[in-house]
Amino acid sequence: MPDLSFSEIKTLQRCHKLYQFVYVRNLTPIRESPKISIGRWIHAAIAAATKNEDPFGAILREYELAAKQAIIDEEIDNLRQIRDLAIGIIERFLAWHAKEFQGWQVYTDDQGPFVEREVSLQVSEDTRFIGIVDAVFQDPNGTLWVRDYKTQEDFYQHDREYEVLLDTDFQLALYVAALRSQKIPVIGGQHIYIRRKLPQWPKLTKDFKLSTQYILSDLETVQKAAELYGVEVPEELIRKLPKNAFFRHYETLISDIDVYRAIQTVLHAAHLISVLPQIGYAHHWHYRCPGCPFYEPCLSEWKGGDPEIILKANYKTREGGDPLGRAQDL
Ligand code: SF4
Repeated sequence: MPDLSFSEIKTLQRCHKLYQFVYVRNLTPIRESPKISIGRWIHAAIAAATKNEDPFGAILREYELAAKQAIIDEEIDNLRQIRDLAIGIIERFLAWHAKEFQGWQVYTDDQGPFVEREVSLQVSEDTRFIGIVDAVFQDPNGTLWVRDYKTQEDFYQHDREYEVLLDTDFQLALYVAALRSQKIPVIGGQHIYIRRKLPQWPKLTKDFKLSTQYILSDLETVQKAAELYGVEVPEELIRKLPKNAFFRHYETLISDIDVYRAIQTVLHAAHLISVLPQIGYAHHWHYRCPGCPFYEPCLSEWKGGDPEIILKANYKTREGGDPLGRAQDL
């Protein structure tokens, strides 16, 4: 059994057919979706900032790399928009992070700051979990936390939903176990959520007051707008503004029981991967399909068409070969 990563297990849990596309046939869309690009570029910028490098330079490098591969002008326009959005988000993120995590510092060992490092955990004789840790941070009391950054379009309203997500996150439990096995005494995990949006500028009403219609913004932007317009910020608007509109964080302690459960998840995935070639990679046509990178070929098959035609036109193998090359072997 080869090494298993978190994303491989998550893909398997999402849909067996998707697992077959990504990990058996090794396929990937020729063009990365904007959502994936922005998430990746933000991760690269935060990693650079944590290592005291230039976060904006990291975004520009990602942009230039993607722009070189663009074929039509429209793609370059989209990439420019992603670049500008990523820069705006990172400017705000760094200001928020400096305030929110005063006294925290990145954990540093003899290899330097613990940022984007590969870790592994042997979960059975023939199965190993591997992953890339976003960062390990030390709080003002000297306690170590493993950190995972998550970018998303919208936030849930209630903190409880995020707390449950973190409590059941087997990825961070495995990272904690892997770090503890390296004698790095991490106490728990931390999720940091980054919204893929910038604050909106509030509008003026016909009678020259700030609109109190619900807006996705923050107090700082609203105050700037009010100053520029020369108007007061209505109390009602302050009450309506979400407290943490663009960034949030949650922490949880990770116990041996959490680690045990996480290891069971990996072992179950390893077993499933070993039997799927015999039982088949069934479709799970369900609510998780919209947004799936293989939605189009699956929909075509669902309607009785030939998905291989769409695969040939819009997908490549990770090595860059013919997407149908492996189909004959399956
Ligand atoms: S579209 Fe749905 S059924 Fe097809 S691979 Fe994606 S998640 Fe699975």
